Amino acid sequence: MKILVINCGSSSIKFSLFQEADEKIALIADGMLEKIGETESRLLYRSRVDGKLSPASERGLKAEDHREAFVPIVDALRAEGPLAHCDPDAIGHRVVHGGETFIGPALVDDEVLAQIRSLCPLAPLHNPVNLLGIDICRKVFPHSPQIAVFDTAFHQTLPPRAYRYAVPEAWFERYGIRRYGFHGTSHQYLTMKAADYLGCNPHSLKLIILHLGNGASATAVKNGNSIDTSMGFTPAEGLVMGTRSGDLDPVAALYAAELFGIEQTRQDLLHRSGLKGLCRTNDMREILVLEAKGDEEARLAVELYCYRIQQYIGAYFAILGGIDALIFSGGIGENSPPIRSRIINELECLGLVIDDCANHRCGEILEIQAEGNRTKILVIRTDEALEIARQTSSALRSI
Ligand code: ADP
Repeated sequence: MKILVINCGSSSIKFSLFQEADEKIALIADGMLEKIGETESRLLYRSRVDGKLSPASERGLKAEDHREAFVPIVDALRAEGPLAHCDPDAIGHRVVHGGETFIGPALVDDEVLAQIRSLCPLAPLHNPVNLLGIDICRKVFPHSPQIAVFDTAFHQTLPPRAYRYAVPEAWFERYGIRRYGFHGTSHQYLTMKAADYLGCNPHSLKLIILHLGNGASATAVKNGNSIDTSMGFTPAEGLVMGTRSGDLDPVAALYAAELFGIEQTRQDLLHRSGLKGLCRTNDMREILVLEAKGDEEARLAVELYCYRIQQYIGAYFAILGGIDALIFSGGIGENSPPIRSRIINELECLGLVIDDCANHRCGEILEIQAEGNRTKILVIRTDEALEIARQTSSALRSI
């Protein structure tokens, strides 16, 4: 069975093709078309040849919009590629917002499309473009079932005390203003991967998961379920991120809106805040270099970034009553030993101690706690596309 996974963003389309056989899923091709609508777009593509993934090929082309962008993607997969003689058996789509409606993957039909569309006001930058990807794929591959996999679904197990805001009830009842949580596909993948690695049933595990990429979130997992998470009504709440502020006094945002207007405040909070707001760049590699050269703004940015993460670890440690493992993932969590050690170094009081040598190793899964440390500290490479493929396959089997 061949499963195509599509992640349709505002200016890029990521795609991955998986082959499933004997309950094993393997990547056979993937790539990305980026800079849609710009003067020149770029297609990156690689496929498995003789059991190994080829180096990515790269070519410039013109793609005015998403419909045009799908043409070279489908051509690459079809022309002597893995879809040369067949269409995908199923297509899994990343959809950012599933609201309270979707607690798992859904086979796309007209009703599901209407429900996803009704959630567009809650995710105006994401759901419309996710819907566009589904619409295009339905036309290009009319015989392939389409499955929607939601970023919010894993967090639908949050109890009301974690998902409600203490605001007038009508905000929630009438307008859906509550915490939804995001990055759910990644947190779900990491939960299963940690359980598999530790040789435990996920339903017996207590975890704190840190997904630290450009967007960043922390999740408390109990018995395999998300019981709290740092992102809220939108992916702007919680940790300090690449360009988003994370937690902020709501009245400070109102005051800024009075000073600068709503639109500039929105742009500032989403695109000019976080690490970028504190020290002009959101690339943690550059920030660490600047800090090493004595840049005071970079030093504060790293301190604040790690401090906020420590606050969430402390809070989740308390509500979970201790943990089996702390997990680092995402671009920064997977690749930055100095950030991992700065976060852990002040958490000895929680029984978390890092092994400096193990922290500098590379691999798909690292175990970096000091010897004798009961609580595991793991570094796990996340794979949202694989998780979407898995959920697509299981949704298909349950039809
Ligand atoms: P996204 O949320 O866009 O998927 P990623 O998970 O790919 O982002 O993470 C991107 C971030 O990871 C970059 O902004 C960069 O700061 C950070 N990063 C990648 N490699 C390293 C590294 N070796 N050291 C520190 N940060 C890194």
